[in-house]
This record gives sequence, structure tokens and C-alpha cells, in this order.
Amino acid sequence: MSQTLIIKTELMLPDTDQWQHRFNIESETSNRLYTISQNKIKKHWGCSCPAWKRYRRCKHLTAVGLPPNEKPYEVNIINN
Ligand SMILES: [Zn+2]
Repeated sequence: MSQTLIIKTELMLPDTDQWQHRFNIESETSNRLYTISQNKIKKHWGCSCPAWKRYRRCKHLTAVGLPPNEKPYEVNIINN
């Protein structure tokens, strides 16, 4: 059974060409927002923060229970 993610509707963002299920997550150390999203083709998850761009892992993915390192991973997303 897939993991279920509950994301506030106001944090959801529209799809882009390559990314779906996009939503904002607040930085713990600043008021910046980063965007978590799933690659439409490869089905892995990514984040817009500098750590993910460099290392393909970051605390934002970990915080919501998503795997690092471009591992394909399906979830159910419920908006509230
Ligand atoms: Zn991140």
C-alpha cells in the first residue's frame, strides 16, 4: 500500500512539463519556501533547495517521508 501524504490545498502548485504533485514546504531555518515535486516520467521526488540540487537528498524530503536519491516512489496525496 502506498504512503499517503496530507498536504494543505493552499500549498499545492500547478504541474510543470516535468514535475507533478508539486507543493511548497517551509524552510525550518528561514521564511523561504521550497518546492517538493514528483518527476512525471521517472516518478522520483525532488526539492528546489540547494542540498537536493547538489546531492539529490535533503531534509525536506525526509521530513515528509519521501526517499532521496531519485528513487521512484508512488504516494497518494490528499489535500485538506
Ligand atoms: Zn529540500
